[in-house]
Amino acid sequence: MNTLEITKKILNKYNIRANKRYGQNFLIDDDILTGIVNVADIKKEDLVIEIGPGLGNLTKYLLESAGYVIAVEIDKKMIEILNDRFSKYKNFLLLNEDILKVNIDEIIKKIEKESGIKYKNIKVVANLPYYVTTPIIFKLLQDENKINEITIMVQKEVADRMVANVKSKDYGILTLMVKYLADADIKLEVKNTCFIPAPNVTSSVIKLIKDKKYTVSNEKMLFDLIHSSFAQRRKKMINSLVATRFMNLDKSFIENIFKECNIDFNTRAEELSIEKYIQIVNNINEKNK
Ligand code: SAM
Repeated sequence: MNTLEITKKILNKYNIRANKRYGQNFLIDDDILTGIVNVADIKKEDLVIEIGPGLGNLTKYLLESAGYVIAVEIDKKMIEILNDRFSKYKNFLLLNEDILKVNIDEIIKKIEKESGIKYKNIKVVANLPYYVTTPIIFKLLQDENKINEITIMVQKEVADRMVANVKSKDYGILTLMVKYLADADIKLEVKNTCFIPAPNVTSSVIKLIKDKKYTVSNEKMLFDLIHSSFAQRRKKMINSLVATRFMNLDKSFIENIFKECNIDFNTRAEELSIEKYIQIVNNINEKNK
């Protein structure tokens, strides 16, 4: 039976419908499902965290290739289905939780302690609920955790923002955060007909490999600077920083920093590379010493 037939059968048997509130669009295309697993390059020595397993269409493939799978699903209705399908697997832990509230490292630690196995890689693989994509990405990338690689399906538009070039319309907070914290690569484009129900948008599978290539004297200040700079995207960056009271710095102080960093006073937030944002932070910190 293929995944489309399995999905229809499950929806019938349990008499359920996709819940919009939880962003449920179930993947029913086996080529895409195997494509995601191939992109994630899952091996037996990997521990995989799946966010939002839903009916378990992707979970089934993950369980076949990974050493261990932790699946975190917010919707109680899905839990019975997932238990019926996968409780026979010894390498499977299902949690009925909101991923944004889960302490990922604690769970990994517990599993490694119980099994006596130290997993080589910790990989996240997910068809993300679109309503909450950005907070999940920030949590996975920003939190200190053991995750090395993240392979996720998101709206095409969000994937494009993650890999956008400086001075383009897609370039923004998400781009800069991803640039600072990871290497990102769009791997697949997925038509809306590959889901039940079909969403209104095209999707992309993007792979993020966590990698901090840059050093900055104050990481929190860098994140604050990025957010403040884009708070009023159409304004000159200096004015946006003043309006959002970034570090409570006055205009002349910021102008001085810009001058020392060789940045034109008329520059807008989307015109600066991550290297320039880092230079600004380092320069401010030098002055505050
Ligand atoms: N993985 C399944 C698939 O590909 O067919 C379902 C993907 S569906 C787009 C998103 C899933 O994430 C749903 O099962 C939904 O209930 C779940 N979900 C939504 N918000 C969540 C959250 N905050 N934490 C964990 N799971 C969540």
